[in-house]
Amino acid sequence: MELLGQIDLEALGRLSGRVDLPALIDAASRMSDGQLKHLSRTLSGGDRKAPALPEPNADFFGQLGELTDEQKDVQMAVRSFMQGTVAPIMNEYWSRDEFPKQIIPELRRLGLPRRVWNEDGTRKPDATVMEGLITLEACKVDVSTAVFFGVHTGLTFASIALGGSAQQKAEWLPRMLDLEVIGAFGLTEPEGGSQVSQGMRTTCRRDGDGWVLNGEKKWIGNSTFSDFTVIWARDVETQEVRGFIVRAGTPGYEVQKIQGKIALRIVENGQISLKDCRVPESDRLQEVRGWRTTAEILRLTRAGVAWQAVGCAAGAYELALGYAQTREQFGKPIGNFQLIQNHLVHMLGNVTTNLALCLRLSHMADAGTMRDEHAALAKVITAARCRETVALARETFGGNGILLENGVAKHFTDTEAIYSYEGTNEINTLVVGRAITGFSAFV
Ligand SMILES: Cc1cc2nc3c(=O)[nH]c(=O)nc-3n(C[C@H](O)[C@H](O)[C@H](O)COP(=O)(O)OP(=O)(O)OC[C@H]3O[C@@H](n4cnc5c(N)ncnc54)[C@H](O)[C@@H]3O)c2cc1C
Repeated sequence: MELLGQIDLEALGRLSGRVDLPALIDAASRMSDGQLKHLSRTLSGGDRKAPALPEPNADFFGQLGELTDEQKDVQMAVRSFMQGTVAPIMNEYWSRDEFPKQIIPELRRLGLPRRVWNEDGTRKPDATVMEGLITLEACKVDVSTAVFFGVHTGLTFASIALGGSAQQKAEWLPRMLDLEVIGAFGLTEPEGGSQVSQGMRTTCRRDGDGWVLNGEKKWIGNSTFSDFTVIWARDVETQEVRGFIVRAGTPGYEVQKIQGKIALRIVENGQISLKDCRVPESDRLQEVRGWRTTAEILRLTRAGVAWQAVGCAAGAYELALGYAQTREQFGKPIGNFQLIQNHLVHMLGNVTTNLALCLRLSHMADAGTMRDEHAALAKVITAARCRETVALARETFGGNGILLENGVAKHFTDTEAIYSYEGTNEINTLVVGRAITGFSAFV
């Protein structure tokens, strides 16, 4: 009876013309408390407009509100490109294990690389923050697109910017900035991942006015269609690491697409074989000073991978929240359930701290105060938090979470690649451990 007293009688009166009220009251008197509560909710909510729900927004603390106008413009341009051009086709290309090359002209029109780099290979004052924003916005929708961009504009561009002569920079950098030529970065080998600095098997041998390269490279993003790949090789005479611009179609240079990946399927990764591949001296990167230059390039781009983890987790969180607001079970959206709210709050905490960490890291990088161990810690922590976040997001979708069409499955699997490349969790941990203890635990 106490519950019956809570029923909105005015609403009942309005309903009386449409339902048999005495029969309804008779039925209600025989209902359990639970059934009455449900009836009460239905009747009182029937005429009332449901309050608008909060829009999913991963930037809970408004950290991106402090961007400059130019940074905001870039962020919005990338968002619109990702939602308008990439999102409609990404599942199809994911299924086909293929990169949609038709998006390159539109990406070219956005002019993004010129927001990060100057034509002479120097960086804009806010280059790392800008790269971070581009990566964040891209990864919220599709990590593979960010990886295509990062391999070209990050690793490969930096190889020529840091290791090329003035002539080499003039030949390649302006065209790379306009995406007229696409590059790839060939460092990892089938037998040399984490240990590639010490155990590089690809060799180069001076021969007259050129060099002869032999060996294999694995996992090389964009290399199946790139115009050139920067190949890192050890000099058989001096044992020094050298970098070469190897143009597509050079005899002795062959690329096979790696098939069957469960992550980043839209990125085309190649396995490269170099058999007596002849490269002119003019295509050896003239300013490379052994492994030191390679390490400098990797240091520059590691922050970008940490940003991938921010974007991927942010995208997964927003998808999960949207789903929790609309998917109904037991008569109400699952976002009503305490355990689901716990998932969402945990995800939001991860995304918020990841974003704060990466913004700080990028400001340090742009100010010239970032060290290896800073980038390494950011990569370790953001990737781990991303892994936890995408798993919770996938879980929030229940069975629907494993369907490509719902988006979150792609974030879930892509995270596994983020976790392992550009320094695995273990290797980056050892970098930080060495810095804070003063003891190197590398074996
Ligand atoms: C999708 C994708 C894209 C990539 N794109 C590129 C690219 O464009 N260009 C490129 O050059 N490379 C690329 N890579 C390669 C990537 O950088 C390597 O996968 C990464 O460096 C790890 O090497 P590995 O896979 O051979 O693992 P391994 O080095 O064999 O490591 C296997 C495991 O052993 C652990 N381990 C190794 N050594 C130690 C140690 N001393 N102490 C403790 N644990 C250790 C690792 O942490 C890891 O868990 C890509 C990889 C992937 C998956």
